[in-house]
Amino acid sequence: MRAVAFHGKHDVRVDDVDEPVMFAPTDAIVRVTTAAICGSDLHLYDRALPGMKTGDILGHEFVGVVEQLGSEVTHVSVGDRVVVPFVIACGHCYFCRRGLVALCDNTNPDAALIEPLYGHSPAGLFGYTHLFGGYPGGQAEYVRVPHADFGLFPLPDEVPDELAVLLADILPTGWAAAERCDIGPDDVVAIAGAGPVGQLAALSARSLGAREVVVIDRFEDRLELARGGAGVVAVNYRKQSPDRVLRELTEGRGPDVVIDAAGMEAHGGGILGVYDRVKQRMRLQTDRVTALRQLMRSVRKGGRVSIPGVYAAVADKFPIGTLFAKGLTMTGGQTNVHPLVEPLTRKLLDGSLDPSFVVTKTVSLDEAPDAYRRFLLKEPGYVKVLLKP
Ligand code: NAD
Ligand code: ZN
Repeated sequence: MRAVAFHGKHDVRVDDVDEPVMFAPTDAIVRVTTAAICGSDLHLYDRALPGMKTGDILGHEFVGVVEQLGSEVTHVSVGDRVVVPFVIACGHCYFCRRGLVALCDNTNPDAALIEPLYGHSPAGLFGYTHLFGGYPGGQAEYVRVPHADFGLFPLPDEVPDELAVLLADILPTGWAAAERCDIGPDDVVAIAGAGPVGQLAALSARSLGAREVVVIDRFEDRLELARGGAGVVAVNYRKQSPDRVLRELTEGRGPDVVIDAAGMEAHGGGILGVYDRVKQRMRLQTDRVTALRQLMRSVRKGGRVSIPGVYAAVADKFPIGTLFAKGLTMTGGQTNVHPLVEPLTRKLLDGSLDPSFVVTKTVSLDEAPDAYRRFLLKEPGYVKVLLKP
């Protein structure tokens, strides 16, 4: 079969590889009909995250049709259309029972690699580094889904692939990023990053009733998309001071909630921006907290900080004193996708949430290497790219 494989920094290729086989009664094989490229894939493509091997199959956002089922997967049938959460979870451990599926205790076979760093291992992930299990991903014609008894969600016919694929990751991620900040009608929310995650966090914050949502980025086309699709105030930080805009909207207090949808490779200007990039390149820090630092300065005293953007390990110049002095509450993490799939599917069906505006490009699987390159460069039109195997 054809699959998008990692070959090194800025080098992904469409390879001919063996089709996956089942080896547990809780496995399924899914024929992928639509996959997507995620900002999280860029951290691999950029080699910002370690633990990738040549030939690893990428992709953690995909929908498809059930091709084969293990004997213990009884809630779906061969031929059903399904979406598969990017987090692999067993469904019965201490964490899964509490809905914290991204913290599943049983799905990272390489937990020993990561426990020295974090103290504990989170769940395994599709198409990600060997620090998270190295599971073959879904930017491919077929994919093996482990724990399919818990991680396969049948799709209603009314939800087309183009929307359903957003349920695998970025819609739950945007929603969770906003929801965990208890957004109320008085709240002003600022979001760094107008990528797909920032766009859908903005849409979710609006849907949860925020008084005003401000999205910050430097790419005009992405800001325009946020203005139109999510109905937000969009600020180009190269042209305008986000801090000033936010103070004006809040009688000088600053936003109640800030969301970092930029993550570990955030851009920054000035001496600190250069310092961050050099230190990361020299492996003296794994993460650039550039956007997070800006948000923590802007947020009001006693504000809430949500971090859906991915961070790997350690960062220099993290403003711990700001967190302390302003009494901030901080939350983040990989998304607990499974509990959100059904409620968000209902919102797609009743039209109360329409994330379709983020999908800006659809190409064939064979065009994935070119799409990765353009998405990395943030070329206009390459916000959310779907791949058709
Ligand atoms: P993306 O790369 O398309 O978007 C990131 C955006 O942030 C870009 O538009 C970029 O210009 C902007 N940005 C960079 N530095 C900035 C700064 N200092 N201020 C404001 N904006 C800045 O990626 P995406 O698909 O939207 O993903 C965003 C982040 O979310 C990534 O780190 C990704 O790994 C992460 N993510 C996390 C989860 C999760 O479960 N928590 C799921 C999906 C994606
Ligand atoms: Zn993703």
